[in-house]
Order: sequence, then structure tokens, then C-alpha cells
Amino acid sequence: MRILPALAAAIVIAAPAAAQTGKPAPILTAPEAKDAWTHAVPEVARVTHVDLNLDVDFAGKTLSGVATLDVLAAAGAKEIVLDVDDLDVISVTCPKGKPLPFAIGPRDKELGSALTVQLEGNKQILIRYKTRPGASALQWLAPELTAGKRKPYLFSQGQPINNRSWIPTQDSPGIRQTWSATLTVPAGFVAVMSGDRLDGEKGQAAPDGRRRFRFRMDKPVPPYLVAMAVGDLAFKATGKRSGVWTEPSMLDAAAHEVGDVEKMIDAAQALYGPYRWGRYDMLVLPPSFPYGGMENPTLTFLTPTIITGDRSNTDVVAHELAHSWSGNLVTNATWSDSWLNEGFTTYFENRIMEAVYGKERAAMYADLDWDGLQRDIRDAGGGDAATTRLHGDPGATFGQLDYFKGSTFLRTIEAAVGRAKWDAYLRAYFDRHAFQPQTTAGFLADLRANLIRGDKALEAKLELDRWAYRPGLPDNAVHVTSATLAAVDAKLAAFNAGGPASAVQPAGWATQQWLRFLNGLPRQQPPARLAELDGALGLSTSNNAYVRSAWAELAIANRYEPALPGIEEFVKRVGRGLLIYPIYKDLMAQGDWGKPIALRFYEGAKAGYHPNAAAGVAKIVGAE
Ligand SMILES: [Zn+2]
Repeated sequence: MRILPALAAAIVIAAPAAAQTGKPAPILTAPEAKDAWTHAVPEVARVTHVDLNLDVDFAGKTLSGVATLDVLAAAGAKEIVLDVDDLDVISVTCPKGKPLPFAIGPRDKELGSALTVQLEGNKQILIRYKTRPGASALQWLAPELTAGKRKPYLFSQGQPINNRSWIPTQDSPGIRQTWSATLTVPAGFVAVMSGDRLDGEKGQAAPDGRRRFRFRMDKPVPPYLVAMAVGDLAFKATGKRSGVWTEPSMLDAAAHEVGDVEKMIDAAQALYGPYRWGRYDMLVLPPSFPYGGMENPTLTFLTPTIITGDRSNTDVVAHELAHSWSGNLVTNATWSDSWLNEGFTTYFENRIMEAVYGKERAAMYADLDWDGLQRDIRDAGGGDAATTRLHGDPGATFGQLDYFKGSTFLRTIEAAVGRAKWDAYLRAYFDRHAFQPQTTAGFLADLRANLIRGDKALEAKLELDRWAYRPGLPDNAVHVTSATLAAVDAKLAAFNAGGPASAVQPAGWATQQWLRFLNGLPRQQPPARLAELDGALGLSTSNNAYVRSAWAELAIANRYEPALPGIEEFVKRVGRGLLIYPIYKDLMAQGDWGKPIALRFYEGAKAGYHPNAAAGVAKIVGAE
């Protein structure tokens, strides 16, 4: 469905600044704020609070219990429509126990089903239910897929629309809800969630030797931000308001890797205002976590692939922290505007990196993002391709263009108005829209009202509508270049001119320098040169997951078989989409040679992948 931009967003239910007044967060009702990915009709009846009381059963791979929903209904509203996917609903009742009629609609493959409940005048409904082992938000890991290899592990990934597979609610980013939860887990396990922790690290005693953990989020959040994990978890503080949860065997390495986090929080607050979520903790997951990080409030989820010992991937932490403002505080109302979350965050992340590590380090990341921007536009089919638009069909923006084109847009505005003016605007923007949904049209209207203020020359210079609604990259785009990467480029040129791999000398290189070098090599290399590179640079045996992935891409482009065992080991161990999808795509692009290899790797690896990653790879290799 194509969603047309409207001039400005209108607000009907509840007033702005909801979190401060205790009222429910507003719902946007302008046409471009209508979410095509939900069954909910929030103008009629909406959820304002979710309370979960769930038992975690590792043997049956199910969660079971009760969700109690607080409902705000318009006058005369008879029913509320919720999103569910593959949930077994056992009963729906009012608080006094009287059954309420309900119906579950047909299942859409992407969106799941509508659960329609007759309210009969009630402001609270209780849903007793059970999840299924294949729930799309949940990954149940066998012990051998964890770092410790002794206990199973469970974690959830809600973004964009997976939480309806374990929480029966209105699963739309524009319908903010507060929540509370009690998780009961087997003895010897620890539960964590994306909200305030009400008990200590070990929880409370529960019947049959189990443990009970309670959590609360008293700020209204989009429902995709409710997240949980249960496993053999331990905690180590990294500062007064921050710390790391992970399996005991990874705790020290993880805490060291993210040790700059307090400096990052200070830098972020100095830029764009107070951090409003209390604690900032991080959960470092097993290697099958399908993303780099996930900005779950109070508890960022992180891939262990960032642990390289040199803190050169802490841009992922800066990114998830920045989401505490862009994404979690001001949220895309629909997934058609994901650049409002990701483009803003990629820009903000870079400003945090600059504040903590200096201008050159930030320039290096921005320059690499520019490479990514160019690559994505090329791979999308060029600057006329509809998928290169920032605002479009939900999920349709190509590759990471919502990140790269979005951040370049904001950097271009910064360059045009000057940093001081831009920073003051952005800080006030976060304050004005705190705890509210936002659309592209709403952002542009705010920008025109508060920054451009009728300056016709500035309006013409910025080309806002072209950036927001049209494909490709406007000519005024700002490209930041990096001296560090220029030095890598010189080594690359020498190698490409026939120089020896031994002259590359990568000792001390950060991940970003590695990527510049490896991705800059011409795709066609003779076997002898590949062997020389691998020998001199240790690519097949690198502990850096980014290096392994980039090397795999080069090797596959040349059908270089000595690299295959290392690639197979890598895709079986690592489930992060960013690092494994290109490998599968490249294998498939190699036709009769690569396709059987891709299928074989997938068959051997899929049991260890998160459902999202497994589905992503299945799509690539045609195994759906
Ligand atoms: Zn992000």
C-alpha cells in the first residue's frame, strides 16, 4: 500500500506531553500515520497498558499465562481489535471473571490475525493464552548454541511486528503503551526485560524451586520495544547507571568492550537533552542474535560479534543509545517512516562518536556510511528506483538506505544552517515530541515551523521534499571524508597495482579500516593473490566477524574453494543478518557452483538461527 504524505499530523486522542501528565500517549490520525501493518483500530478502542504474567517453559518452548490490558474506548465503542500471531487464546474475561465474546480472524502470513474482543463496557480485559514453539519473536536456543553450552536460552526480538506472537496487544509503533510483567522461570535461570527491574539480580523464590522476576515500564512505549531474555545470565556494572548482562563466560570481555558507555551517555545528554529512561544496561546475546543491536529501553540487546577486544565496534552501542531519543522517545508512527528512527539515530550515533573519540574517528564512520549509501543505491537499481525513497511502502526502503540516506539528509541540513542552530533545533525537537509518534510530514512541518521559519532561500537550498519523498540522492548531499581511510586507500592502490600483500601491514587496524581495504579490492582476483592475501593478513582465521564476512564475499566472488570450510564454520556460528546475508546472496549469484553450497550451509546452520534470520536466509536461498 502506498501512503500519501499529508501536510501535517493531527492529534485526536489525548493531549501531547502524555508522559508528564499521566495521560495516555497520543495517536496520530493524519492519513500518512495510518499503519498498514496492524489490525488495530485505535480511534475506536486502544490499549494503554499491558500487564503480563507468564511462565517460561523451556521443555515445551512456550510462554503461558495472562495478559491484562487496560483499554481506552471512544464513546459507544463495542469492541477492541488486537494483533495476534499463532497464539493459542484460551479465554478472554473481564476482571471479575465473566467471559467476554471474542473472535480470531484469518491469519495473514505477514500480519497474523485480528483478535476482536467484545468489551461489554469493561475498561480492562484478561486474556489467558499460550505461545507456540515457532513464535516469530522468540528464539529458544539449545544449550549447545550458547556460550556456556550448559543451559538453554530464550530471547525475544519484537521489531518490527513480531511481538504479536507472544503479546496479544495492538502491535503498532503509533500506539504507545505502558507495561508491567512477571516472568516465572526454572531454577538456575535469570530473566531480564526492557524495563525497570523490581527485584534483585536473582529475583524472588517461586513455587517448585522456580524464580520470579518482576519488571515495569511506566513510560508509554511502542509495543515492539517490549523485550525479554532468560538464560544463565550474570551482571557487571560499567558505571553508576550502566552495566552488562551476559553469560558468565563472556562477562569480562563484554564489560571491557563497552567500557566507554558512561562517556557516551554524558555526550548524548550534552547534545540532545536528558536521558529519560533511568538505567542504561546492555545484554550481550549468544552469536545467533540476528541484529547488531536492538534498542530495547533500559536494556540494549547486542550481538557478541562486536567483541573484538579493541572497542572498534562501539559505534553499535552509540547507535542503540542514540535510539533512546530517536526511536524510543520520538517514534516512527508507521514502518513507512523507519528513517525517522534509523536515519536520525545514525546521525546522532556519529555525533556521539565524535564527542567521545574525536572528529577523525567519526569521519571514518561517516565516510564508510557514504560508501554504503552509494552501494545501496546502485544495488537498488540506481537513483530512479522507488525503493531509494525515504518515505515509501512499509519495509520497502532498500538495504540500509533509511539509515544512510536519512543520516546524510540530516547532515546536509546541519551543513546548511550551521551546527549550533541545528543542535538547538534538534534538542528542542526531541523535547517537543517526547513519548509521541512522528511521521515524515510531521517532521517536515516541525522543521519548517521552527528552523526554516519562512526563509525562502534556505527552503530552496535544502530540497526537503526531494530528500523525503523522491528517489535517489539530491545533489546537495554532504559527503564527509576521512584521512584514516585515505591512508588505507593508498595501501589498497599499491596492492591493486601489483604490490605484495606483506606490504599492507594491518596491525592496529580497526574494523572500519579492514572493511575499507577488503571491500575496495577488485572482485576478480587470481587464486594465488587470494592465497597471498589470506596468508599475509590472516583473513580465514580472524577473530573479527566483520573481517570474516568481507573475506567470504571476496572468496565467493572468485569461487575460491580453500576458503569454504572457514566460511561454513562462520555461518554456522554467527546468525547476524548483516554479516551472513551477503554471503548467502553471493553464493546464490554464483549459479550452479554456489547454489548447492548455499543450500548446504543453510541446512546445517538454520537450527541455530533466530526465526527472523532463518526466514531471511530461506528467502535468499529459495528454501521457503
Ligand atoms: Zn537502529
